[in-house]
Amino acid sequence: MRKQIALISMLLVSLLMAQSGPRQAYQFPDIPGYTTLLCDFHSHTVFSDGNVWPTERVSEAWQTGLDALAITDHIEYRPHKDDIVADHNRSFAIASQSLNDWPLLLIKGSEITRDLPVGHYNAIFLTDSNPLDVQNPMDAIKAAVAQGAFVFWNHPGWTQPETKAVWYPEQTQIYDKGWMNGMEIANDQEYYPEAFQWCLDKNITMLGNSDIHGPAIFPPGEHRNITLVFVEESSQKGIKDALFAGRTAVYAKNRLMGREVYLKPLYEKAILIKPAQDLTGQKVKFGIEIYNPLPFDIELTAAGSVPEVQFPEQIVLYSQRSVLLRIKVAKDKNLDGLILPFVVQNVLIAPGKGLDVGIKVN
Ligand SMILES: [Zn+2]
Ligand SMILES: [Zn+2]
Repeated sequence: MRKQIALISMLLVSLLMAQSGPRQAYQFPDIPGYTTLLCDFHSHTVFSDGNVWPTERVSEAWQTGLDALAITDHIEYRPHKDDIVADHNRSFAIASQSLNDWPLLLIKGSEITRDLPVGHYNAIFLTDSNPLDVQNPMDAIKAAVAQGAFVFWNHPGWTQPETKAVWYPEQTQIYDKGWMNGMEIANDQEYYPEAFQWCLDKNITMLGNSDIHGPAIFPPGEHRNITLVFVEESSQKGIKDALFAGRTAVYAKNRLMGREVYLKPLYEKAILIKPAQDLTGQKVKFGIEIYNPLPFDIELTAAGSVPEVQFPEQIVLYSQRSVLLRIKVAKDKNLDGLILPFVVQNVLIAPGKGLDVGIKVN
């Protein structure tokens, strides 16, 4: 007996000492008034058509840098249902068991799954997924809304020619009822510029999610889609409030997309600009060092000229690297307040429209 106790306590100690796998460390900054949380609101497990057990979704969410994950198994499409016999709440319940091990906010959701023109809708912040299992999709969305859920239209261009999103009368019906709270402008490998524009025009919250079905393994240079959420408090309530208020941005395919009101302060907080210095601390004449802590290269294009100043037309701010920008200025030029105008080609504030930024010279 004593031997057994010793063995058990050794096992306990080794569990406590165990080290987790590494976590992707993103350096998206907070913006004034809000904390930036990294979220994925669309994922599947073996309880629908995914190939991963729910607890694994939690550990890999943490390892891929997320602060919050929603598990959103299909209500209607469950190809493993002969082997996995359970109700619609079970995958979330199992995933929740691993939350002691992983500091993650886990959000309960479901995917309401219909052929076009209705399409697929995720409902998140549910309390009970089972009432969504009804014949009429409008009744399913209504049941979700009755629980205070945040409802969004998934992958609006999926299966469409050239993945071009199409807005049908069914979407108008859902939107007019106030049920289309959000929309995916990016899903897995797809990006939907039409959806991006609808979000801006119709005041819909934009999301970019993985819709992951297999294990979260990404080739070098690729990444999990992330919805950046700007919260007042780092909690489920904080995320829900921010989603209903439209405070999001989308990181997909090494591009950042969203409303200018959030992307401008995020960019300005992230990118560090300082006068270049040599080893003795002397300023290099008119040299500027720019550091990009973000996880993707930033592509800048000059947005005009400045009299008596020569500077590069194109600049690449390499991810997590510094670059030195050398500029030529006429001898007696006053540098006070001098700003070089650029457009960020891969930080988009509308489809095809980059964020305007300035590089302060002095
Ligand atoms: Zn779907
Ligand atoms: Zn899905």
